This record gives sequence, C-alpha cells and structure tokens, in this order.
Amino acid sequence: MISLSKYIVVTGGVVSSIGKGITSASIGRILRSYGVDVTAIKIDPYLNWDSGTLNPYQHGEVFVTEDGMETDLDLGHYERFLDVNLSGKSNITTGKVYSSVIDHERKGDYLGSCVQIIPHITNKIKDMIRKIANESHAEVVLVEVGGTVGDIESQPFLEALRQLRNEEGHDNVMVVHVTYVPYLKAAGEFKTKPTQHSTKELRSTGIIPDMIICRSELPMDQPLKNKISHFCDVEREAVINTPDVHSIYEVPLILNQEHVGEYVINRIKLETGKQDLEEWKKVVNALQQDEYQVNVGIIGKYVELEDAYMSIRESLKHAAAHVGIKVNIEWIQAENKINEEKISHLDSILIPGGFGERGISGKLEAVRYSLQHQVPLFGICLGMQCMVIEFARLNGLDDAHSTEFNPETPYPVIDLMEEQKKIKNIGGTMRLGSYPCQLKEGTMAKDAYGEKEVSERHRHRYELNNDYREILQEKGLIISGTSHDDFLVEMVELKDHPWFLGCQFHPEFKSRPNKAHPIFVSFLEATLLNHKQKSMHND
Ligand code: GLN
Repeated sequence: MISLSKYIVVTGGVVSSIGKGITSASIGRILRSYGVDVTAIKIDPYLNWDSGTLNPYQHGEVFVTEDGMETDLDLGHYERFLDVNLSGKSNITTGKVYSSVIDHERKGDYLGSCVQIIPHITNKIKDMIRKIANESHAEVVLVEVGGTVGDIESQPFLEALRQLRNEEGHDNVMVVHVTYVPYLKAAGEFKTKPTQHSTKELRSTGIIPDMIICRSELPMDQPLKNKISHFCDVEREAVINTPDVHSIYEVPLILNQEHVGEYVINRIKLETGKQDLEEWKKVVNALQQDEYQVNVGIIGKYVELEDAYMSIRESLKHAAAHVGIKVNIEWIQAENKINEEKISHLDSILIPGGFGERGISGKLEAVRYSLQHQVPLFGICLGMQCMVIEFARLNGLDDAHSTEFNPETPYPVIDLMEEQKKIKNIGGTMRLGSYPCQLKEGTMAKDAYGEKEVSERHRHRYELNNDYREILQEKGLIISGTSHDDFLVEMVELKDHPWFLGCQFHPEFKSRPNKAHPIFVSFLEATLLNHKQKSMHND
C-alpha cells in the first residue's frame, strides 16, 4: 500500500525536551501558510498502550482527542499549530504496535511464520502510518519520533521509517533531525560535536537527514552552521538554527526567516500556492500584549511541572490575547494549606482536573475563599466537582463529598457514573472524548458560547449525583449545561457571584491561538474586571 501523501520524518538528537514537537508543528504551520494540507503523527516508543495511565510528572498532560483517545501532549501542539482535529490513531506507541501484532498472531494471520521485529513489527508500523495518511487525505504527514536517536526503544520505528523512505521514494520522504548545540561559557563557544555524533548515530540506522535544525540558547552564526553542514553532510541552506524564543508561537516565524518552507517544498516537490503567514503574525503580536497584567492562580497537584497543565496554560494565553491582556499564572500547590494570605492578591482562581485525594482539601479551601470573597473561579472537571462539594457543605450538607475520596460520605454529591460501576480495567475506560452539551438560556455559559449546543471533550469517571440535583438547585446552584438527554450535569454556575463556573469537560483541549475558547475568554474578562475593581479600591 503506497500512499498519496508525502512524509516529513522528524527525529531528535543529543538531549530530550528541546522542543521537537513544537519544531515539527511549526514546520507544519509554515506548510499550511502555503495552502498545503498537513496532518501529524507522534510516535511514542514506550510500551504503554496510550498515555492515559502515565503520571503527569513523567510525560506532562494527557491530551484527549475528539475521538476519545488519551494521547501525548505533542498532539496538543499539532492541533493548536495546524488548527486541525487529530484522530487518536495519530499517536502510535510501541504498546499499540505490539498488541496489534500479537492479536494477529493469535488469530493465525501469519500462517505459520515466525513473527519477528522485521518484517512483522516494521510492517505494522508502516501500515499504521499509511492508514493515517490515507484516511486524512493530507498532502503532507509529519511523523515525529519521540525520544532521542540511539534509544533502544525507537530502533524498530527508525527501521520502519528507513523502509518507508525507500518504498515511497526519495521525492516523497524527507528527514529532519533536531539537535541541541550547547554554548560553553568557559570556552566562550558553541560546541557542534554532540550534533555530529547524533547525526552519525542516525546515519548508522540507514537514515540520512536532509535537514538539521539546531536548537540553541543563543543565535548561531553562519560559519558555525557551515561547520555542521560540512561535518554532517547536509546542504548549507538545510542547517537551520532556532534559538530560544519568548513564546513557542514565534517558532514558525523563525523557521520561516530561515527559509525552511522553501527548502521543504523543493525537496519533496510540493505544488503550493503563495505563502500567507499574516494571520499567524497577528496571533503572535496579540500574544505580546502586556498593557494590563492580571494574576490567575492555578491550584493543582502537579504545579512543579507546568507541562502537566499545558493546554490550560496555552488556553489562558490565547484568551488573554483575545481580551488584550497579559496573564501571569501563579502555580499554587494544592497539597499545602491554602489560606487568605496565599491567594488574596489573585485576580481569579482556576482549579484544573485531576485524580486522587491528595490536594483536595486545598482545592476546597480555594472554592470557599472564592465564594466568601466573590473572586472569579473556574473549575475544570475535578475543579467543578470541588466547587459542587464545597457549595453543598456551605449550604448545610455537612461532610458532602465525592465517593472518589470518601465512599462513606453522608452526602455523595459527586458519584461514580452508572456505566463506570462495572468497569475493572483502568486504561482507556473513562468517559472519554467529545460529547454534545446543551446550554440553558439566560446563563453565563450560554452567553459566553452564544450557542444553544456545543461539543466538548471529556475524561472522567465521576459526575454530579442526580439525587442531589434538586436540593443543590434549591440552594442556588444553576445547572447551565447538561448532556443531550439532560441526564448528566455538564456545567454549573452561580447567580450571586461575579463569575463562578465549573464544567465537567475539558474546554482547554479545543482552544486555538487564533480561536480562543469562549469560556476562557469570559473567565479572563471577569478576571480583568476584578483586577480593575481591586486597583480602584487600593488607590
Ligand atoms: N477524578 C475525577 C473523575 O474521574 C475528575 C477527573 C478529571 O478531572 N479529569 O471524575
């Protein structure tokens, strides 16, 4: 099965965490600016089937796709930079490849042959890649290989990609190797040796890079690029430098200045229209606003690693650009005691999603503070559940809780969803992916969206317990969004509060730099208002 798409394979060298995902997404954005239809695949060479069961401290946030797959956070970059919705199949893991091959073996599909890495695993990898290419009808498929060249785990993938290049032909596949070029202060110079070594390592797999993108702290000069071109045997104009920038959204502009688009278009012989990067430039400019600075506190359990809340952080940036302000995020550890001293300077509070009891009491304290001091509060998934619990407690339902944290609570205002009660396996069994949500007339939610029905992505097992719907409403809680059949509560808010809104879904997965999410926008408008009122009060 040969595909109609062309491929750009992106590998990494020297060290991890150099922004390979952002670099590939930026190449995609540049091609999009020429009118090329692009999709992306992220290969994660770990044995987990998906990233759903991974601790956020290991790999950052779990990004949920429309079709309900729990994937690597790089898919979030791709969706945001390319402005497309990706299928969960776009995240290929060693776990998915091997389990599929073993399934076939059990069914007897290999007709007595000995099942091996080459050809069975490598064929499976190529099939998965081509399937996405064919289903998406994209002209170009970016294939980012996670990890660093030389890792044992990625070898079967590199071998499969080497074969893919031969099968699809030289004009249809190119390889971009992203490396790191350190600057040694003591020697006063950049060092290219690690890049030379990792390129050599890549070549030893039979893959020859067409382009080397050098990440560095400071800008590199032309003689240094020439040296890399010479030692790594890559054309001079294909040695690209991306020094550290203030905002990840600037990376497409940097790559564009380095003429990456032209090189790629010539190398894989793409037919394109004229380039138009204007909209992206506008987005980047808007993101640099800083006339009004507001302080938003995010109260979570994994705050030491911002990547654990990547999509929320990015959604706040998009919404800030839309409102014309700058958001300073203060990361607050929910496991420590939350008191007035810690949060009274904040203009608003956001409680993100999460699992497990650690940090719950801090989150509940933050909800109480918001209720008692009229501070805007946005609760996402577990955040909304905490809002409901604390609201219930303050309204006479003492010790109300979620059965996730206290199965013996007298008032289980948050409880396991019916369909979850029989489930035994942890992986991939939550309520996952996109579901419609209908909005109630006259609510903040409806005003913000401006639509009667929206569709948002979910990842949870618990829900607002319908047995408490009536009593909570009597106490003043407004149910502003429900599932299609009105059975599940999707959004709650309060009337006598400047902005108190919780949603059971994760709006952060749908925000884009050019299309800020309406709920985040509404939240930041309330944040700005609170900021202005506080400043007037202090003057
Ligand atoms: N732990 C809660 C649940 O499973 C919330 C999940 C989340 O915040 N993503 O319902």
